[in-house]
Amino acid sequence: MQSENPRDMLIVEKQQCPVCGEEKATFTEYEIEDAYAGPIAIFSIKCQACGFKNSDLEFINPGTPAEYTLEVESKDDLNIRVIKAGECEIKIPTFRISVDSTMGSEGFISNVEGVLNRFKAQVELLKNDDELDKEQKTKLKNILKGIEQVIWGEKKMTLKLIDKSGNSAIVSDKVQTKKLKK
Ligand SMILES: [Zn+2]
Repeated sequence: MQSENPRDMLIVEKQQCPVCGEEKATFTEYEIEDAYAGPIAIFSIKCQACGFKNSDLEFINPGTPAEYTLEVESKDDLNIRVIKAGECEIKIPTFRISVDSTMGSEGFISNVEGVLNRFKAQVELLKNDDELDKEQKTKLKNILKGIEQVIWGEKKMTLKLIDKSGNSAIVSDKVQTKKLKK
């Protein structure tokens, strides 16, 4: 059943920040209506003191825990919608990168191109680390090049979402879905 009146936005100020401990964090919660998943609650936190921010989401009507595999084959596929909960792991086996080391546990609604841009930003940050040796830097450069080729429609790749929460999806007829145990 669809709700006619989504819940009002809830904003709670002066909460304790999980990172710096100051009571300067603002929690926000609101609901959106998604064509695929129905109502989704979006949570976010932002600290005025240290700048920490994070977000997560939860389906009001939870789906099934599943592993989603998408073959990204053309520029059109970049527009395919990706809904990722904080708990969900995201992987690009083509470049051997995964969310564990690169994107924290942020939840978001985006598309394949948005996911690639997030990975790209993270790899760019890593690349500037002075601790890295030449070989590691070359590896990261090649990943960046690969991501750009996918964005230009010159390269194919596989995108995987491993979601045990039932709060994630890749919305496409092309996606392969394998159910997971809770
Ligand atoms: Zn803080």
